[in-house]
Amino acid sequence: MDEVVRCPYCVSGEEFKPMVSHVDGTFICARCGHTTRPKDEKYECRCSRCVELQRITA
Ligand SMILES: [Zn+2]
Ligand SMILES: [Zn+2]
Repeated sequence: MDEVVRCPYCVSGEEFKPMVSHVDGTFICARCGHTTRPKDEKYECRCSRCVELQRITA
């Protein structure tokens, strides 16, 4: 069964929008540009929403 990674920011219908996987293990949301890399704990997304979140919680 394939792992489905969903964007925490984008809702598609009643579910969060599935993100597109890339060969390097990064998942990218086609709608908002959010990225994540489940295998890399240190990976930080640079999309505007994550930057804003980091700014608030820092
Ligand atoms: Zn998104
Ligand atoms: Zn992001």
